[in-house]
Amino acid sequence: MRTAREMGIKTVAIYSEADRNALHVRYADEAVCVGPAPSSESYLKTDVIIDVCKRLNVDAIHPGYGFLSENAGFARSVREAGLIFIGPSPESIEVMGSKLAAKAAVAQYNIPMVPGTPSAITDRTEAKAISATIGYPILIKASAGGGGKGMRVVESEGDFDEQMDRAVSEAISAFGDGSVFIEKYVTSPRHVEIQVLGDQHGNIIHLFERECSVQRRHQKVVEEAPSAILTPEIREAMGRAAVDVARACGYYGAGTVEFIVNDALDFYFLEMNTRLQVEHPVTEQITGVDLVKQMIYIAEGKPITIRQEDLQIKGHAVEVRVYAEDPANNFLPDVGTLDTYIRPQGNGVRVDDGFEQGMAIPIYYDPMIAKLITYGDTREEAIQKMIRAIDEYQISGVQTTLPFCRFVMKHDAFRSGQFDTGFVSKYFTPDKLTPAPDATESTLAAVLAAWLMENSKPKSTGTVVATASRSKWKANRLA
Ligand code: ADP
Repeated sequence: MRTAREMGIKTVAIYSEADRNALHVRYADEAVCVGPAPSSESYLKTDVIIDVCKRLNVDAIHPGYGFLSENAGFARSVREAGLIFIGPSPESIEVMGSKLAAKAAVAQYNIPMVPGTPSAITDRTEAKAISATIGYPILIKASAGGGGKGMRVVESEGDFDEQMDRAVSEAISAFGDGSVFIEKYVTSPRHVEIQVLGDQHGNIIHLFERECSVQRRHQKVVEEAPSAILTPEIREAMGRAAVDVARACGYYGAGTVEFIVNDALDFYFLEMNTRLQVEHPVTEQITGVDLVKQMIYIAEGKPITIRQEDLQIKGHAVEVRVYAEDPANNFLPDVGTLDTYIRPQGNGVRVDDGFEQGMAIPIYYDPMIAKLITYGDTREEAIQKMIRAIDEYQISGVQTTLPFCRFVMKHDAFRSGQFDTGFVSKYFTPDKLTPAPDATESTLAAVLAAWLMENSKPKSTGTVVATASRSKWKANRLA
């Protein structure tokens, strides 16, 4: 909406009853309630949303990155209603929405893929034989999977049936589709993804990589761009592969091609996300490209004017996701009211959030409070800024992932760039969490410094009395 406003485009927010006071509702030029809190009765109601658009003469819908953003049926309904969907075609979403269909679509492009089964498992005996050939550990994955759900690691053949049952039932309950397939479990895997932009005239470019290896429950929590480990050659090869993946499905709009990278820096195509990603700000910071603006131009049918050869990585950006979760308790979602909510500020700090002090975190949706992004000339500088920003972020009323993110920023493995998706299980235990530097401690330090300065001046007495009157503590101490 901020981008739209900069472009002179008016916006309409839709909201559920739980989000009446949400920031997006207040920011938009108009806002319409589309139903009660449960998303199935509001944010997922295609018909209601399209009716609102028609009533208010809306031209286009930006689906964001949750709810209906990767729903081919929704994109199709939008198109059929004569509206513009700010994203790819329903056909691209459909192909890439199924991990198996995606693998089949890119087959002709010689994209490296993790060894595994090319289709859904129907025969367990055969699947076990394939697993034995690939070699354990293997991963059973839901074809319709997303958000790290429906994924099971199998260490040995003895565990196969049990993990298979779990994966299938998780896939059915989460996605209504029990198709699962097998992939070799890549050891010491790193998650590196490439941002792509395609227009409706067949031009596709990439905007380098984001590293998202710090994950809990196969879900990202810290991201950065560029990756600390890619060489220019590997970056270029991955970029080319990502553009080919996008070409394989006639892609236009902003999209992300995800790869898994092993410790020898071999990379394999995982899947494509056909929408804006949560972590897109780090790419915006290092390229200077506003991805949402590009999405809008592309949806208007304009050709991309950015040339691949003109793009350069400038500096380094880190993002941490601030979730209302308790890192000391297995990252369980926490609910409550933001009694204190004060954002960090200053040079190189960006906060993309949806809350203000006094607001409650609704239990109905993903408990993400904010994304905190820092940007510096170097990785070290971006990390230092992140530690400073985390320490200045004041949140009370709910537990958050911030203390965990501080732990990551200070950890040698992260600092040296030598980490993988096993970071949390390898290094993290709740006793490693250190409390934020106490606000009273810093106040005391500041007061002491002020006192020392005042007392080093020749005529100190008058000044001390004057400053003392501003602080009760100081008055007592100085008396
Ligand atoms: P989802 O769509 O649920 O996000 P992905 O295929 O993108 O699923 O995988 C999510 C994460 O799971 C990856 O970032 C990685 O940490 C892990 N993962 C996926 N495939 C493999 C694999 N073959 N070997 C090891 N880890 C994997």
